[in-house]
Amino acid sequence: MPGFWGHAIGSGVALAGTTAYMLYDHWSVPDVLAVNAGIALATTILSPDMDLFNSRPIQGWGVLRFFWWPYSKLVKHRDHLHIPVIGTTARFLYTALIIALFVIIFKFWFRRIGLQIEFDFAGDRDDIIYNLLFLVDLYVGAVIADATHYVLDVVTTEIKLSGRLLRPRRSTIRNAPPDGEKGEWNRNLPNSNTDWRR
Ligand SMILES: [Zn+2]
Repeated sequence: MPGFWGHAIGSGVALAGTTAYMLYDHWSVPDVLAVNAGIALATTILSPDMDLFNSRPIQGWGVLRFFWWPYSKLVKHRDHLHIPVIGTTARFLYTALIIALFVIIFKFWFRRIGLQIEFDFAGDRDDIIYNLLFLVDLYVGAVIADATHYVLDVVTTEIKLSGRLLRPRRSTIRNAPPDGEKGEWNRNLPNSNTDWRR
């Protein structure tokens, strides 16, 4: 796993590439910004690593992270929902569920304290379609970030696995001779010290 910052760098590269493409393709500035927001969102607080409760994207939710506890328990790390599109959709729906829960709680609470606030989202039909398109942009951005995340996860795992096959087993390193014979040891196993730390 490349870790949070590895993924953040990957997303940064994806963001730069996507922006360059969108500008070349004459997308409107609001659309470009919405797609970029989607990439940022899926990197910082809605990443595929939401399946790990101690991951940084979950910590990003602060106190609200407990809403993600069921998700992190139900979803196995790096299982199907790590796959872009499927996972992206699942996390968007899950977020919608959290928002819906909030709307219900606040509606109930406002009614109890006698506050009349209408949660009426029915606006002009064109307005709704216009805003939905931004949601689509956000989703597209999130899919791009999730795809980058997935590729990085797979590639780094492959590299780690092939490295493990080439490298001597850890148990041999652990049985390293005492300091006196270290010269010989290092000669036989170049970089063994750095390997050990990893
Ligand atoms: Zn991951």
